[in-house]
Amino acid sequence: MQGYIINMNRAREEDLVVTILTQKSLDTLYRFYGARHGMINLGFKIDFEINTSLKSTIAQLRDVIHMGFPWVTDRNRLYHWQQFTSLFYYHLKDSEETGEFYFDLLDNAASRWHLQNPKRVAVESYIKILEHEGRLHREMRCFFCEKPIQGEVSVIRSYFPAHPHCSHTPGTDQNALVELFENQSSFFLDDREVERLWFVMAEGL
Ligand SMILES: [Zn+2]
Repeated sequence: MQGYIINMNRAREEDLVVTILTQKSLDTLYRFYGARHGMINLGFKIDFEINTSLKSTIAQLRDVIHMGFPWVTDRNRLYHWQQFTSLFYYHLKDSEETGEFYFDLLDNAASRWHLQNPKRVAVESYIKILEHEGRLHREMRCFFCEKPIQGEVSVIRSYFPAHPHCSHTPGTDQNALVELFENQSSFFLDDREVERLWFVMAEGL
């Protein structure tokens, strides 16, 4: 089975409790420390087996193989990847069946993570999530005053559109944001705007 490690907690001594997003579900598994085990880390894609024993309430993670990406040795990219993947834990932790959407989305993002500013990949992926969950607010109407937005637009949590003067946050060119919303493309946004969208997303998916 394959999956992404989206949460890790230290249990007793060097043991770990690991939450893995697979193509079907979220699995929380126990990993016993062993010197011969390969190192695992948050955000890693792994191939693994689940060992269910009657004695323990939590199944064991076994036979782990790290499926590396070409960018995994780039500290900065790995750091942002770990931030990005941990957002999925808080978003999905109460779901049992997640379906393949989120796994496939991470696969797609991972394959593009080294090709451009990874925050662009994350922001574009987030639009796909909002769309998939029926939460993408395309209508340019302000969250606060409910009036239409002309000219610059800013977004608040869940990328809800708002007037810059109502949200007290800097605005973005509306056409550039519409391009992002309609075509999941950050092409017309500059890096500063992408940075801001990244921070809004990091508040929670
Ligand atoms: Zn307003």
